[in-house]
Amino acid sequence: MLPRNHVFFGAPGVGKGVQAALLSRREKIPHISTGAILRDEIAAGTAVGRRVKVAIDRGEFADDETILELIARALDRPDAAGGFIMDGFPRTTSQVRRFDEILADRGWRIECALLIDAPEAVVIRRLRGRIVCASCGRSYHSEFDPPRVRGRCDDCRGPVTRRDDDRPEAHRERLRIFRDRTRPILTHYREAGVLVEVDGDGSIEVVEKRIAAARRRSTSRSAVS
Ligand code: AMP
Repeated sequence: MLPRNHVFFGAPGVGKGVQAALLSRREKIPHISTGAILRDEIAAGTAVGRRVKVAIDRGEFADDETILELIARALDRPDAAGGFIMDGFPRTTSQVRRFDEILADRGWRIECALLIDAPEAVVIRRLRGRIVCASCGRSYHSEFDPPRVRGRCDDCRGPVTRRDDDRPEAHRERLRIFRDRTRPILTHYREAGVLVEVDGDGSIEVVEKRIAAARRRSTSRSAVS
């Protein structure tokens, strides 16, 4: 059987949100993006949103307790019982440890940890043009993948704008944080035998096909182990 419980890894801007959304639609499993959840909380002016806004605007991490609470809540929704795609979580070694506990409590485990990789220059170019729908979170690129009507989401007609934390001066810092704090946790999933890597330098369709192949690969590997 193909994997159902996924974590997607990749530098900011590598396209993991886009690919997670595509897989979510195809497999009918929820796409759980901590970044999107936090942006919704900020937009709604909730207590959580007010607590994390300053850190997020600076490109820094929100605190673990808040993130873990949001993750547990998302996994408790009935639609997550058939699988999920984590996007943007876990991001640190302490989050990996706590995540394993949250999964074990439910008798679950990660079946596919997918790293989408691309050279830093490619990622920076994508980040510079990234625009997102403030209503449904769909991502676009101002040059390579713009909405059909300028400033309006193709899916929900919501306003498509630059994210508040997508300032050029924050890009290098977010890439550095990914390299220093998130990349090291891949070892955990490599040792568990569930890590698969995909080249993210290509069109959305090409990368989507590579991901489908990688998921099949991860299945055949767990079948022999
Ligand atoms: P993203 O949309 O994944 O790029 O996330 C946007 C921002 O939300 C990040 O720069 C962090 O400030 C915050 N964030 C998202 N996920 C996490 C996480 N797992 N831990 C801490 N902060 C997070």
